[in-house]
Amino acid sequence: MTSGKFLRTVFFVEILKGLGVTFRTLFTPPVTRRYPKVKVPAKPGFRGLHALAKNADGKLKCVGCGLCGAYCPSKCIYIYTSEGEDHAKVVDRYEIDVLRCIFCGFCVEACPFGAITLSEHYEYSNSSRQYFYMTKDKLLENWDKYFAGPKGERYFRDFWQPKSGNFTGREDQAMFSRVKLKEKK
Ligand code: SF4
Ligand code: SF4
Repeated sequence: MTSGKFLRTVFFVEILKGLGVTFRTLFTPPVTRRYPKVKVPAKPGFRGLHALAKNADGKLKCVGCGLCGAYCPSKCIYIYTSEGEDHAKVVDRYEIDVLRCIFCGFCVEACPFGAITLSEHYEYSNSSRQYFYMTKDKLLENWDKYFAGPKGERYFRDFWQPKSGNFTGREDQAMFSRVKLKEKK
């Protein structure tokens, strides 16, 4: 052992350095939050619990085309339709097994009618499996709870249709710089 190392060991230099770090952090503000006492609002575009959108007249927007179910990588959307008056398709059942969902948002992107949404609601823990099996009624109820008023109207425009003319993106959204990509070509 060298004399320097011997002295460092005898005088507990490394331990004192470690205690110094601990002491400094005692006076810095904590980065953790005391959930559920302290809650942070979900960011726009957050993928929470599903909802089925309603038209202005309060009727189901979904036409039962099945595209969302076809795109869903978890195959957790089940749609049952029948033929109504004038051969119109009627959505008898629309169900999502939320426990299998990976919240990718493909269903929202795939829907040509803006009929399925992912809300900002994330506090829905429950001990019953059945609770997480969303039926058409439950999904419509979610629309009333989480997308009432102009919020529901804004949802697709702002977060799920980036190609639409009025999409501007968020300042803190990470994205490639188009200029740099062009320069590289
Ligand atoms: S978010 Fe993804 S996994 Fe969940 S239902 Fe939609 S498509 Fe399926
Ligand atoms: S939610 Fe959209 S994609 Fe899915 S069945 Fe209804 S209309 Fe079709």
